[in-house]
Amino acid sequence: MGYNKDNVKDLLDFEDIYRILDYLGAEPQDHGNHLVCKTICHGGDSHKLYYYDEQRLFHCYTGDCGSFDIFELVCKVEHLKLNDAISFVVSFFDLYVLDQKKIDQSEDWQYLTRWEEIDQIYQQTINRENNEVKLKIYDNVIENFPHPFIYSWAQEGISKEACDFMDIRFDPMNGGVLIPHYDKNSNLVGIRTRTFVQEQEVYGKYRPWKYHNLIYSHPLAFNLYGLDRAKDNIKDMEMAIVVESEKSVLQYLSYYGKCNSICVAVCGSSLSKYQFNLLKNLGIKELVIGFDKDFTEIGSNDFQKVKKKLLNIWNKYKNDVNISFLFDKYGLLQEKNSPLDQGPDAFKYLFENRLVI
Ligand SMILES: [Zn+2]
Repeated sequence: MGYNKDNVKDLLDFEDIYRILDYLGAEPQDHGNHLVCKTICHGGDSHKLYYYDEQRLFHCYTGDCGSFDIFELVCKVEHLKLNDAISFVVSFFDLYVLDQKKIDQSEDWQYLTRWEEIDQIYQQTINRENNEVKLKIYDNVIENFPHPFIYSWAQEGISKEACDFMDIRFDPMNGGVLIPHYDKNSNLVGIRTRTFVQEQEVYGKYRPWKYHNLIYSHPLAFNLYGLDRAKDNIKDMEMAIVVESEKSVLQYLSYYGKCNSICVAVCGSSLSKYQFNLLKNLGIKELVIGFDKDFTEIGSNDFQKVKKKLLNIWNKYKNDVNISFLFDKYGLLQEKNSPLDQGPDAFKYLFENRLVI
C-alpha cells in the first residue's frame, strides 16, 4: 500500500528530519548526531524528545511514547494513519519527483488513487496547484510595527536600508526583531522572530512569531527568503546565490545594494528540490551555494561531512544547471561563519574563486 516505508526513510537525511520537525513545531536543536526537540509526540512542552541519526529513531523521555520513527511521529502529531503519514512525508519533500527510481514503481497507482484524500489533509496548511505549493497567506499585521535600527546587526555589516528594504520590524512586546517571509509574489507567508531577550533564547534564536494566539509559521522547504525582492535580478543575471540565513541575505543587500541582489536564503542548511525549482524556473544558468563554514580545518571529520553534503547537492542538481560553491579553503572565515560574515572583501574573494567541481 502506498510507498514503501523503508525506501522513503532511506531518502531522508538528518537535515530533512530537522526540517519536518521544524514544520511540525518541534523547535529542533541540532546537536550534531542527534536532535533535541519539544515532545510534540504527546502534545508536551518540554524539550525531551530526542532524535538519533544513527538509529533513525526518536525517543521520548517523558510520557509513555517510547521509541518510534519519523512516520509514527507524523501519525501522532497530525493524527494520520501510517500510509497517510508516509504520503505526507513524500509530498512534503516532493520525493516522488526527487527519486522515482528508488520508490517501488508498482505501488505508484495505489498512491495516486489516494491522492485526493491525502491532499485534503495536506491542504489544511498548503494548497497544491499545478505542482506549485501555495502557502497559507497571512494578513500583514505588522505593517504598523516600527522599522528598527539594530545595533548588533549594524556591527555585523547589516545596514538599516537593507533592513527597511526587507521590511524588518520590531515587536516591543517580546523585544524581538520580526523577519517577515514573503513568497515569490510578495504574499506574507510567515514571520520569524529573533529575540534579544536572554530568557527566551532557550527556544532557539529564530522561531516563528506568535501573536494573538496565531503562530506565523510556514514550511521553510517551500520558500526562499528574499526571492520576491531578488527575482528580477536573478532573471537578468541568470545566476542566484543561495545562503543559509536571513541575515546573510541582509548582509548581501548591505554590501551590494538592492539593485544587485541575487542572494536568497534556504533558512536551514539544505536546499530542497522545491527551492531549487523556484530558482530553475527563473532561468538560472549557475547556482552558487554559499552555506556556512561548518568545519574547522581541511581534512577534519567536520570537513568530510561538509564535503559529503555539498557533493550531494551537486549530484542532485548538476544535470539542470551549473553548481558552484563559496568554499573557504583559504582560511578567510571562522568556523560557523557564512561567506558574508567577514565583510565584502572576503566575500568577493570567495566569489571570484568559487569552486566548480
Ligand atoms: Zn512523548
